[in-house]
Amino acid sequence: MAIPNVVIQLAYLAAAVLFILGLRMLSSPKSAPRGNVTAAVGMLIAVVATLVDRDVVDFKWIALGAVIGGAAGAVAALRVAMTAMPQMVALLNGLGGAASALVAGADLISTVVDAGSVPTGIVPTAIVLSVLIGGITLTGSLIAFAKLQEVMTTAPITYPGQQVVNALIGLGMLSLAAMVIMDPSELTAFWALAGVSLLLGILLVIPIGGADMPVVISLLNSYSGLAACATGFVLDNSALVVSGALVGASGIILTKIMCDAMNRSLANVLFGAFGAAPEAAAAGAAQDQGTVKAYTPEDAAVIFSNARSCIVVPGYGMAVAQAQHAVRELADTLEEKGIDVNFAIHPVAGRMPGHMNVLLAEADVPYDKLVEMDDINPQFPETDVALVLGANDVVNPSARNEEGSPIYGMPILDVDRAEHVFVIKRSMNPGFAGIQNPLFFNDNTMMIFGDAKKVVIALGESVRNY
Ligand code: NDP
Repeated sequence: MAIPNVVIQLAYLAAAVLFILGLRMLSSPKSAPRGNVTAAVGMLIAVVATLVDRDVVDFKWIALGAVIGGAAGAVAALRVAMTAMPQMVALLNGLGGAASALVAGADLISTVVDAGSVPTGIVPTAIVLSVLIGGITLTGSLIAFAKLQEVMTTAPITYPGQQVVNALIGLGMLSLAAMVIMDPSELTAFWALAGVSLLLGILLVIPIGGADMPVVISLLNSYSGLAACATGFVLDNSALVVSGALVGASGIILTKIMCDAMNRSLANVLFGAFGAAPEAAAAGAAQDQGTVKAYTPEDAAVIFSNARSCIVVPGYGMAVAQAQHAVRELADTLEEKGIDVNFAIHPVAGRMPGHMNVLLAEADVPYDKLVEMDDINPQFPETDVALVLGANDVVNPSARNEEGSPIYGMPILDVDRAEHVFVIKRSMNPGFAGIQNPLFFNDNTMMIFGDAKKVVIALGESVRNY
């Protein structure tokens, strides 16, 4: 029985509304789980509407794909560690880009070869855009994955004239794109376009340092949405057009937020080869900036027990050590002793946006205890103890007052303005930006060296026993 088109279009409209509501709910940690479910229901409606709308000749292959894809997704969701989430997202983006390019390419080939005709109107342009963007997204994401998983060098790979070479290849790609649009039956140009797009994805991402990969992944996420949107035009499927446009737009907004929080332009991230000169950074790290005071958890417990207020600043090290549950228990202990505890969240703490929020929410830290940077910074001068837990760059005062520093201008959490600062980390090694942190040498800073989780557990015990 054929389903009337109006029903299908209404189903797509409902799906689009659910996607937008879901995105809206993702903007707060409290409503985010509901947002996920809402958007997933929207996707289910869109998929079911598509399956009943199209003349699906054989559901066997679709069922097989759903089972294999569903099983792989379930295993990944259960097993991939939170610290490996950026590379997981990279793979998902890459596969999304590939799927869009394959569907658009298959549409062209079946029209030209099987039906012996040529696509017309907007369709050739949409096919070209989907293959071009999808191809770049696929290989770019695979390189991003390889860098983050450290299966290839994480350092930027650069060579003289690199940007000129990339620009020439880009021009070649655009010429091929124009040829395919003008004559879509010209399949040789189409295959060349697919090949050049795949090549360009690799060449554009290799000069970007592993540390900048989360920004690149967010950008590639946006590209995967644009490729899907283009494929929506190829298939004349409004749900795909809307969902692709939403992914494209939200990916680019997130990219901008990340660049702003690092005080860098997107061009600097993409072409600046940040981290290409580790010698300079290492020199900075080795440079003698004075002496540091090393405390034990037992010594620190005395100061904590006499404090009235404490701000915890989590960073990448908390994620590595999986110390979020231990720090929540420490916060509970401090609060039982009448100490006011809050958590300061820097927008790029950790290695992906929202990294700290996700971990602390997992440990049941109440949302109202997580305070954004701009709101908490004025509170540091009145705070007795700032506890820096595996954070480094996001509390580096060089960003405020050292003009030559690679992170100069990046907004930071002003922990150095608290009365006492405790820093928990394993060594004097630098963080992501590869530079030393003068905070560690300040008079009011005390280092507690060790794994974040072990130190926080020991600190909690010492405070309890004090
Ligand atoms: P950093 O990378 O600056 O520092 C992390 C610190 O954690 C290190 O100095 C390390 O020191 C310490 N550490 C690592 N493992 C452990 C452990 N097991 N126990 C205790 N300490 C540990 O982290 P921040 O969160 O301060 O800053 C994030 C950086 O990442 C910023 O430079 C930001 O620009 C960048 N970035 C963030 C993105 C995001 O979206 N969040 C995206 C792209 C980049 P040691 O080895 O001595 O223990």
